[in-house]
Amino acid sequence: MSEERTYWRKCATCGKEIPYRGIYQKCSVSSCRKSVWCSVDCWDIHNPVMNHKNSWAEEETAPPKETEMRAPIRKIVSSSKPSATTSAAANRGDIPKEVLVVASKLKAYVKAKYDLNTSGNVMDALSDIIRYEADKACEKAIADGRKTLMDRDF
Ligand SMILES: [Zn+2]
Ligand SMILES: [Zn+2]
Repeated sequence: MSEERTYWRKCATCGKEIPYRGIYQKCSVSSCRKSVWCSVDCWDIHNPVMNHKNSWAEEETAPPKETEMRAPIRKIVSSSKPSATTSAAANRGDIPKEVLVVASKLKAYVKAKYDLNTSGNVMDALSDIIRYEADKACEKAIADGRKTLMDRDF
């Protein structure tokens, strides 16, 4: 048996593997903080069992495998965006977080292969992953002294 773990953690309800950099759900109740769930449905199941009065599922992104110390990206689903000051957006650290995936194509793929619907938040989560991977690849290209990002940087 190999010691290599290919997933990050397992869902507390169904045992499904949550991959590195995958989306998972966390319980807002502090005594449940150690558990993770693969979906809101699985989180829902533990809710009556634990007798929560005020709780909600928090969507999180699992950390990538290589750098476990990187904090998971917290997603606030209902954040009203502050109107961006256009001049400040030119700062490198302040690049607007746009959706980078073609939603219709991804939805069609997920539907065709797994017969699943795709929630809108998935596009944001995947965009974060793409940005993360692209950032790493760009740094490689820069370290190589190149001006062009290439497939082998990924
Ligand atoms: Zn589950
Ligand atoms: Zn809980």
